[in-house]
Amino acid sequence: MPLLLAGKKVLVVGLARSGAAAARLAVREGALVTVTDRQPASGLAEALAPLEGLSISLSLGGHDDRDFTSADLVVVSPGVPLTLPGIAAARRAGVPVVGEVELAYRLLGDVPLVAITGTNGKSTTTALTGRLFQEDRSAFVGGNLGTPLSELLLSGTRFDVAVVELSSFQLEGIERFRPRVGAILNVTPDHLDRYPGMAEYAAAKARLFANQQPGDAAVANERDPAALAAARATRGDVVTFGFGPRAPMAVRDDGEVVRWTGPTGEPERYRIRSRALRGRHNRENAMAAVACARMMGVPGPAVQRGLDGFPGLPHRLEPVSDRGGVEWVNDSKATNVDSTVVGLSAFPAAAPSVILLLGGRGKKAPYAPLRPLFPGRVKALLTLGEDAPAVERELGDLAPTESCGDLATAVSRAAALAVPGDVVLLSPACASYDQFRSYEERGDAFRRLASAVPLP
Ligand code: ADP
Repeated sequence: MPLLLAGKKVLVVGLARSGAAAARLAVREGALVTVTDRQPASGLAEALAPLEGLSISLSLGGHDDRDFTSADLVVVSPGVPLTLPGIAAARRAGVPVVGEVELAYRLLGDVPLVAITGTNGKSTTTALTGRLFQEDRSAFVGGNLGTPLSELLLSGTRFDVAVVELSSFQLEGIERFRPRVGAILNVTPDHLDRYPGMAEYAAAKARLFANQQPGDAAVANERDPAALAAARATRGDVVTFGFGPRAPMAVRDDGEVVRWTGPTGEPERYRIRSRALRGRHNRENAMAAVACARMMGVPGPAVQRGLDGFPGLPHRLEPVSDRGGVEWVNDSKATNVDSTVVGLSAFPAAAPSVILLLGGRGKKAPYAPLRPLFPGRVKALLTLGEDAPAVERELGDLAPTESCGDLATAVSRAAALAVPGDVVLLSPACASYDQFRSYEERGDAFRRLASAVPLP
């Protein structure tokens, strides 16, 4: 049943990009819109700009419970905790409360949806899945990744499919949202600051499949118990991905080729050979994307073209230069030790050829999980940033180590040490805030510096 908003009072809570898009969408549908944010207008310039000239009431610098209880519908941005007192008041007053994604979903009509969630790999898998679809049909790609789903409706463009990344916060705000294909990549401890425990976090992820019907598909990582349990509870078809020999209704990677065995039972083979998809984690992301695309009928050759042509996302094992036979790889998104473990593992332990740039603002987690990855892989360790002393203390005995202080020094030392065949990997295991505004700024600086080093 489509949502009719004309003349209804809609309160949008939280005014980041999704909230602003939801407000514009509600206005377009003829609603009487109020937006509220705990920040004053001075902190919201960017989000307020697209609302200029629209008939919207502002209730900024805090929340007024009366806005919540007098609304016909409350739309919550993903950053806003559902424990907000106003939200509880709305619920007590019988006012429906939904997330931005649910609002967009109700207005989406018959555009089929593919939705992807997980603790890690969401953005990569969503972008890749979008790419596979785009080889065959017009696909909107967004959600938590970049463009809110509401923007699809505001764009006025007719898409054949929407591929959206959803965070667990966004999944808390869904009610009827029903993806034709949903995928849960993995559920590992994260965001436990917002959830009482793992069970609650996993339950939020599992909502992805809750409204599925026969004919829909739930894709899950075969080695992840929480993802698998969620998929098995769906009314749709269960599709798994993982490593090993071929299996029915599954994507399987035997280390050589990826095999898809779908509803017809006919096996198909795919190759994952793009540098943007190196590492076991990316092979998992690629398998999930293949499952989503094939379950929606993207032809096999288009899937293979998309896998080969995927450029990857910036700052995630991003190849930035290979001048003079030295490969420079920007993995600035690795802001914690787990991510650097994943990033460093993507390089073979065949010969010590990785010059690793590590350090920044530490997260007080031990660096020890990196130790087993050094032998046979890391040729030199170049440290930078605030946490360099801890990095050197915990890892400095494993490879020749130099304290470089800042990124520019580390890059010029790496250039001096590297010989053809080596990889210079920025995978810092630390936040960037000691020397940069964001991991993006750090990665951009690395990209610039790497392309300016003298050739070996
Ligand atoms: P998200 O959107 O979930 O944060 P990204 O695709 O942006 O995920 O990847 C972020 C980081 O997570 C990567 O830099 C990598 O270290 C790690 N990662 C990516 N895919 C996976 C995966 N399938 N399993 C485990 N870790 C992964």
